[in-house]
Amino acid sequence: MSRPFDLDPLFRAVSVLPGIGPKNAKLLEKLTGGPKVLDLLWHLPVDFIDRRFSPKVADAPDGRIATISVTVGKHFPNARKSQPYKVWCHDETGTLNLVFFHAHKDWIEKQLPEGKEMIVSGKVEHYAGHPQITHPDIVKPEDRESLEALEPIYPLTAGLTNKTVRKAAQGALGFIPKLTEWQDAAFKKKNGWADWDTCLKQLHFSPPPENIPPSTTSITGGLLNEEARARLAYDELLANQLTLALVRNRQKRQSGRIFKGDGRLRTRLRAALPFALTGAQERALKEISADMEAPARMLRLLQGDVGSGKTVVAALAMLSAIETGAQAALLAPTEILARQHAESLKPWLDAAGISAVILTGRDKGKNRDALLQKIASGAAQITIGTHAIFQEDVIFADLGLAVIDEQHRFGVHQRLMLSAKGRGTDVLVMTATPIPRTLTLTAYGDMDISRLDEKPPGRKPVDTRLIPLEKIENIVDGLKRQIKTGARAYWVCPLVEESEILDLAAATERYDVLHSIFGERVGLVHGRLKAAEKDEIMTKFSRGDLDILVATTVIEVGVNVPEATIMVIEHAERYGLSQLHQLRGRVGRGGDKSYCFLLYAGALGATAKERLSIMRETEDGFIIAEKDLALRGAGDILGIKQSGIIDFKLADLNAHAELLAAARDDARLIIDKDPELKGPRSTALRTLLYLFERDQAIQYLRSG
Ligand code: ADP
Ligand code: MG
Repeated sequence: MSRPFDLDPLFRAVSVLPGIGPKNAKLLEKLTGGPKVLDLLWHLPVDFIDRRFSPKVADAPDGRIATISVTVGKHFPNARKSQPYKVWCHDETGTLNLVFFHAHKDWIEKQLPEGKEMIVSGKVEHYAGHPQITHPDIVKPEDRESLEALEPIYPLTAGLTNKTVRKAAQGALGFIPKLTEWQDAAFKKKNGWADWDTCLKQLHFSPPPENIPPSTTSITGGLLNEEARARLAYDELLANQLTLALVRNRQKRQSGRIFKGDGRLRTRLRAALPFALTGAQERALKEISADMEAPARMLRLLQGDVGSGKTVVAALAMLSAIETGAQAALLAPTEILARQHAESLKPWLDAAGISAVILTGRDKGKNRDALLQKIASGAAQITIGTHAIFQEDVIFADLGLAVIDEQHRFGVHQRLMLSAKGRGTDVLVMTATPIPRTLTLTAYGDMDISRLDEKPPGRKPVDTRLIPLEKIENIVDGLKRQIKTGARAYWVCPLVEESEILDLAAATERYDVLHSIFGERVGLVHGRLKAAEKDEIMTKFSRGDLDILVATTVIEVGVNVPEATIMVIEHAERYGLSQLHQLRGRVGRGGDKSYCFLLYAGALGATAKERLSIMRETEDGFIIAEKDLALRGAGDILGIKQSGIIDFKLADLNAHAELLAAARDDARLIIDKDPELKGPRSTALRTLLYLFERDQAIQYLRSG
């Protein structure tokens, strides 16, 4: 089945919308994350300006949006470019100053002819006692209507105005089709929800709700239309849970195999380990063995903080598959991580006498053919690699166990593709992201979970300090001293280029500064580099050819440079705690004492302070994640959100936790009753999956 025709208008390019040419289409895509009308429709206003308040000049309070009828007075063009152009206006109660920066004289004169009545609207500010509005919206009295009483405010990106986005979004509303209801009728009724199209239109404020009380400055979008948002959030959660249920169901239907090794390889590996396994590692291994020895397919998540020792657990699990004569594969999200895995596994695999190959996107031609040959013949007992392993011509002799590291970089369907490469292949997913229990459900559905909640002994705590950004000089001085003694440092900045968020310290800028101080031994990595370029710089840093690695959060996942002992994080207050935790986990890996400097800007509020203090108090990722969730709500846990594990457009897991539970129950019931989605509700439910672009699950309905 392919996408229902009804949805076609939503999947058209935004260039069909009013005011959207090729340039704006590109910007919209950047803004909304997709090129389609649908992507724009999911891009909801975050606020509304209330333009209904129309006082006299003398009564206009400071800081409030007001729409005021005035007579235009004298113009005061700016003498210098840096100065504003001013226009004095008045009504019978007083004078209102209009202020324009970088405006064209001709344009202002045309907009505001002296002596004419005009309506101006904007935020009133009192400057030296006089009311003024900077860059007001201006209309003629007869066009008063065009100043929408309640104006939706969209999140923007550089180059796009609210007006453009609003106009396009209003145009997009016309593309919303009527669809057959997929929600359970009783459930919908109980919640008093409207149809999906009505809800979506409401969220874009069309038609404007009538009974909104006049507000002081603006109305927070979240407080408006809560019902409409809840309904669509539920739809999204249902699509998510339905996908996971379908995947799970398919996994279950495919019969698994019993992998019960005799332990000979594992004994050899254990004998070669310079340490004893922790209690948590032993527990996880028991759970994994039990799964592998059972006839059903394993689908298990191994959750463990950075440094908790997941690799050795994975190695032992792989050996138990190999003991039965099957092969194992280990997948990493990047080339560099795949190579690092291969390197750290090598002594262990050598000890056990196991042959492994590495397969990444870099392998081409004859070399690749030779690798594929080894994999196909079974000569390669372990294959370590990147998503290159997913390619169709990679054929295993007998893949028994697939281990996926940092799985959130891979999609659910990729997980399926991998398990499709073997007969009854068991799957073990490893993640270092400490996801609170309440959230594992959405991220992983019904996976079984093993947790490494105990660190290997002998780790030195990372000395974590909160430092105001103004003291950055001290950090630089400290770095100079430390580098002389051979230390290596990460320096993390939030964004790569100054853009819509103006005051973010840009990584490039910081790089320039550090480069001017430390010279060629400073490197820069960021998300816009090609994977190979990124890897090259990372490798230089890990070899010691660089002392300082300036980075955006691309270093978050996985790199292991034990010699790095200093982590500087700029604008730490803007990061989610889980993400800070991941970043900090990059240091404290070697024998030397490590430091983490959390630089914050400005005066921190109480919550922000409390959040950052947690970082000083504990290094336990799960405690940090739970506290972060409690303090900020799920939608804000950047570490999780940015990792792409949980990527909801509408659902806010904090606000909609109950809906999540309901969606999960609903999905289970649906799949229990109708595993192939063939029943009466199924057509509508399939449409729902397409609507939220979870249709990959549908492809697997029949192929299973
Ligand atoms: P992660 O869970 O982040 O992948 P690793 O598997 O890379 O962690 O382990 C981090 C380091 O700890 C490695 O050098 C590993 O050899 C070591 N290690 C693992 N388990 C133990 C243990 N039980 N005792 C001591 N060191 C251990
Ligand atoms: Mg690891």
